[in-house]
Amino acid sequence: MMDLAAAQKVLKTVFGYDEFRPGQRAVIEHVLAGDNSLAIMPTGGGKSLCYQIPAMLFDGITVVVSPLISLMKDQVDALNDSGIPATFINSSLEWPDIQERLAALHGGDYKLLYVAPERLDSAAFVNALAQLPIDLLAVDEAHCISQWGHDFRPSYLALSTAIEQLPTQPQVLALTATATEQVATDICQQLKINPNNEVNTGFARDNLDLTVVKDQDTDRYILDYLKVNQGETGIIYASTRKEVTRLTKMLTGQHIQAAAYHAGLPDDERRQNQEDFLYDRVQVMVATNAFGMGIDKSNVRFVIHAQVPGTLEAYYQEAGRAGRDGLPSEAILLYRASDLQIQRFFIDQSEMDEQHRLRSYRKLQIMNQYANTQNCLQQFILRYFGEESEPCGRCSNCRDDREAQDVTTDAQKVLSCVVRLRSRYGKGIVAQVLAGAHNQRIRENHLEDVPTYGIMRNQRQKTVGELIDFLTAAGYLASVGGQYPTLQVTSKGVGVLKGETQVFRKMARQAKRLAPEDDAL
Ligand code: ADP
Ligand code: ZN
Repeated sequence: MMDLAAAQKVLKTVFGYDEFRPGQRAVIEHVLAGDNSLAIMPTGGGKSLCYQIPAMLFDGITVVVSPLISLMKDQVDALNDSGIPATFINSSLEWPDIQERLAALHGGDYKLLYVAPERLDSAAFVNALAQLPIDLLAVDEAHCISQWGHDFRPSYLALSTAIEQLPTQPQVLALTATATEQVATDICQQLKINPNNEVNTGFARDNLDLTVVKDQDTDRYILDYLKVNQGETGIIYASTRKEVTRLTKMLTGQHIQAAAYHAGLPDDERRQNQEDFLYDRVQVMVATNAFGMGIDKSNVRFVIHAQVPGTLEAYYQEAGRAGRDGLPSEAILLYRASDLQIQRFFIDQSEMDEQHRLRSYRKLQIMNQYANTQNCLQQFILRYFGEESEPCGRCSNCRDDREAQDVTTDAQKVLSCVVRLRSRYGKGIVAQVLAGAHNQRIRENHLEDVPTYGIMRNQRQKTVGELIDFLTAAGYLASVGGQYPTLQVTSKGVGVLKGETQVFRKMARQAKRLAPEDDAL
């Protein structure tokens, strides 16, 4: 067993840092003790050092499995610049080049070898690895191994078999910034990590202010934001390439230095745009979710999602790219219920199996709840990752000083309608029934005869839908099922129906038009 003093020394002499960041010491201790371990730290928390420092202390080689092929060269160059002998092998290299690197690894020229997970699918490559003195296998973005996660990559499944084939039986360090308890358990099982060797520094990012903005004009909002935050660097995420292109044009048309990034752009253009952003030649990167994994740009001040993403994990990971330097930063979600359709479309179109599809719908519902909750946004996210916390005091909900209004009567109307409909319908139909809509679906199912039909006909269907979203996010209703979820009243909702619980909701300002005496109505 090596001692921590040696690690501390490498931290200082090789990397130039005086102190470990939270979690780093504990993880390195596990690694130096020879345990397989799992490190869960937020983006920017300093996961790389957790394997780079042990790599410098071990006699043999540390193999880093990372899905970020496009960044491997940069990462390795940066290490070489700091005097750390590292190299990479991925699909961008020709076979002779690969052999040359393997020979150099044999000769002890390198401490670190970065590989893409796809490499491990190749028996020839695993064979070549088996000839090397490998001490440690670091698995970056380890959540990709789990089908419960939001970014499952089948090639990660080859990892455990590959490890078994290595005669040196290297120890494993899995690292991720995004893992629900279920995903963490899955990682531990697959990579044979004792759950006691999990180091979790928590997911909270105290320098990140979360905001949800509803139903605003996207272009107007973004332009106003950029005007107020002049010169600050940020990322704007959109769901489709088309919207990325449109937003980029819109911004450059307003003389804002913006570049686009999505998988449909030619390689060289994409790379160029990425570099322009990394080296501050453009202010704003407009991108699909293809952009960002592993991007170590520290001074990103804001991440705006112009459209709602498909999962809360993806959202938090993308949002977390703001403020890696620890300075105050903003993550803003521009929400429109209609944008959920895009994500539903993606799920419908994808080739995942039925179980996975259901899970994706479920995740989208949770994302929708995040957008509609009136409780602390950070608390909502942390709870999703299995962590209890106090309200953050910074997010748009914590800052929302509108007075909550008693909406118990309306809530009771919605809840009793759901009961009357025997929990067989989803939000759309329930809102239509309450608002007294006339259409074929209503007629065919004889829903005009339901006792609660039209009891909210003085309100717009959209408004009723928003109330349903609110009641769902607040836990009075549950949205159950996959593609066509149905609404059910929860036990909390039953309390409202029985008159035991009141429901309070902060309402949009314009809803306060009523004169005080009208409130009694
Ligand atoms: P992650 O992979 O967890 O997102 P990185 O490993 O890329 O984060 O580290 C983020 C940044 O923090 C890097 O610029 C890194 O050099 C810096 N960093 C890491 N550890 C320390 C430390 N102990 N002290 C100061 N800076 C650190
Ligand atoms: Zn909050």
